[in-house]
This record gives sequence, structure tokens and C-alpha cells, in this order.
Amino acid sequence: MSKKEYWSASRIDVANYCRMRYYLKYIEHEKSARLSAYAKGSLLHEGIEHFWDRLGTEEEVAKKKNGKKYYDGESFSKYLQGKWLRTVIGSEHTKNPDQKIAWRFEGEQWVIKNSIPGICMPLFEYIKEEGPPLFSELEFDFSLDSMRFKGYIDEVRIRDGKVVIRDFKSGSPFLGNMKVDNDPQLTFYNAGLCAKCFVDPNFSKTLGLEKVSSQFVGNPYFIYPEIEEEFFMIEALPKIRQAESESKKEAPKKSDFANEEDYKEAIKRRDRILGNIPSVILKTKRRDEHFYELIKMIKGAKEAVKVGDIYPERGRKCDICDMKYACEKKLDQVTKPVMHDKKGHMLFDFMKAPYAGPVEVNPLSENSIKQRQKQFDYRRKEAWRGR
Ligand code: SF4
Repeated sequence: MSKKEYWSASRIDVANYCRMRYYLKYIEHEKSARLSAYAKGSLLHEGIEHFWDRLGTEEEVAKKKNGKKYYDGESFSKYLQGKWLRTVIGSEHTKNPDQKIAWRFEGEQWVIKNSIPGICMPLFEYIKEEGPPLFSELEFDFSLDSMRFKGYIDEVRIRDGKVVIRDFKSGSPFLGNMKVDNDPQLTFYNAGLCAKCFVDPNFSKTLGLEKVSSQFVGNPYFIYPEIEEEFFMIEALPKIRQAESESKKEAPKKSDFANEEDYKEAIKRRDRILGNIPSVILKTKRRDEHFYELIKMIKGAKEAVKVGDIYPERGRKCDICDMKYACEKKLDQVTKPVMHDKKGHMLFDFMKAPYAGPVEVNPLSENSIKQRQKQFDYRRKEAWRGR
């Protein structure tokens, strides 16, 4: 890794997600697909990051004073809808294919636009009531074991006398307990904050950690377990609001429905809404063991690249992988033409990674390939008859 290269939260996330994705993105520097979920996520993240700078009074917003853009939930929604429209138009008009958003279905851009008020109205109220954080997009940068780590923490705040690290998540408002309790990004943020405290006494004083900060960066701690960490599930808010309004309504009455089926459907819908309420804040903690796991995972990814042990880890996650097009292209390349080892055996090239390093291949003549294909086909038919 050159001096300029470093491990960021997204690099760690990608290495933890799929080695093939890591290889394509960070070693081959393939272009990422601009998936619609990421475009929407960036809009919401950016909106939260600059929330306090752009919040003004009605008068300031009307006069377009000091860069103030909104003053209540409705104007906040309109502002983000306008930004979204500009993103959509930009994607449609760009000549750069990498800048085009890959929509999941026709008209998704309008579905997202219409969903913005449902997210932004409760989000505005929540953020305003909670007040500004101590730090937003807090940068850290440290080196360890000849590796450089650099990142930005979405928010750091003090709550009930405790330091809180917050990461905003868009998309599905549900996260499993394993992800909440073990996600490497929060481990990384804790280690980054501790490293920052270690080198900057004034900073650690701001967080009230000056008495312990000399013990960080492996002296003996990497992770300070007293720091509270949490995911803020942005899209839990509209679901909670929907459940609140549903619970205020009277339960469906059989007499209000023309038939039994419609009645049962209405009951099911209500149960679904009331029985599936996500939480906005998912709290967790980290320990040193999490950090050791993280370092081991990083070293594992580096070693896998070095020895060429890279392969696609196919699964549901592929649908939301920004390397999915590059991955398909790469796999398509390595399976053509038929590859053979030195003895002329056909290689199952998905077992070894020819795309991760030089693989010696003895190219066979076209005739010889055809002959072998015939033999292979014959053996296959024989095997079939013998069943
Ligand atoms: S598409 Fe799937 S297998 Fe390919 S890089 Fe992405 S996650 Fe890995």
C-alpha cells in the first residue's frame, strides 16, 4: 500500500463484504456503478450533515440570507426534493456513463422523490429537538502496523455525560443484532476517535477523556468500551409515524367490508404495520476484541490479494453491490476461452483466481480443444447412459 493509500470505513466495509468486490474496487480500480440506493443515501446523508448550517428563520429563507434554505419540516422536504430533482436531471444529461444512476425499475426516481416528505418531515423534528452534535464529519487519521487508517465519523455528541459515536444509515430501517454488535465500521470509528484523543490532549479534554486518553492506541487499549456507539436508522422514522397514526385509528370492523377477504386483508395490513416497528437508534458497544478481528480481516484481505485467492462470493448482496457490472464483466473474461493447466486439464477457473494474478496457461490449438471437447462430451453421454 503506498503512502497515499489508506484504509477508510468504506474500504473496510467493502473488504468485509466480498473479496471480489474489494479486489475490483481497490486493486483494479474498476468504476463503481452508481446505484439508486447510494444516490438516495448520499442525498439524505448530505442533508443531515449540513442540517444546522442551512436551517434559518422563515424570513432568512425568503430573503435567501446566509445560505439558509429551510425553517420547518415542509421547507426541509421541499429543499431535499429540489436537490433530488437536480441529481436526477444531472444523471439523465450526463455524457459520462459512470455518472448515470442505475435505477432498479422504471420510474424509481419519482418513487424516491415522493418518499422524501415522509422521511424528511419526522427527520426535521427529530434533529431539531435533539440539537446539534459536538462534531459532525469528524476526521481522524492514524497509522498502525505499517497501515494507515483515515476516516470521518458522521457525528460525535455527548449524551448523559457519555461520548456517543453515531453513524447514519439509510435504506432498510431494520438491522440484525449481529450487524449492530459487530459491524467493523463502528469498531473503526471508536479506534479512530481514541487515536485522535491520544495525539491531541485538547481534543480529548473536549470529550472528557483526558484522564484515559494516554492509554489508547494499544497502551493497552485500542477501543474505549465506555464510548457509546449507535446506528441512526433514517428510514425508521416514516415507519414509526405510520404505526403511530395506525394505532390511533379504530381497528377495522367486519361490518365495514363487503366481503371476508377484504376484511382479513385490512386486519393483516394493520398487524403488519403495528407488529413491525423499527427503532431509530440502535445502540451498541465495542471492545478491543472487535479491533483485533478488524485487523485480522484487513490482513486477510491483503493476503488474499497477494496470493490470488480471490473469488466471487455470490449471494443476495450482489443485487446491491456497486461492483456487480464490473464483476460480471471480469468473470465473463476469465471463462473465455476455455482455460487449461500445463497438463492440458481444463481449469475450473472459479476455484482459483486467474484474475487476481498471473496464471500460467498452455494455450491449446483450436483442433486440440475441439478434440478434447468431443471426448468430454462423449464421456458425459456415457456417464448419463450408465445411470
Ligand atoms: S457482484 Fe457479488 S460476487 Fe461480484 S463483487 Fe459484488 S458481491 Fe462480490
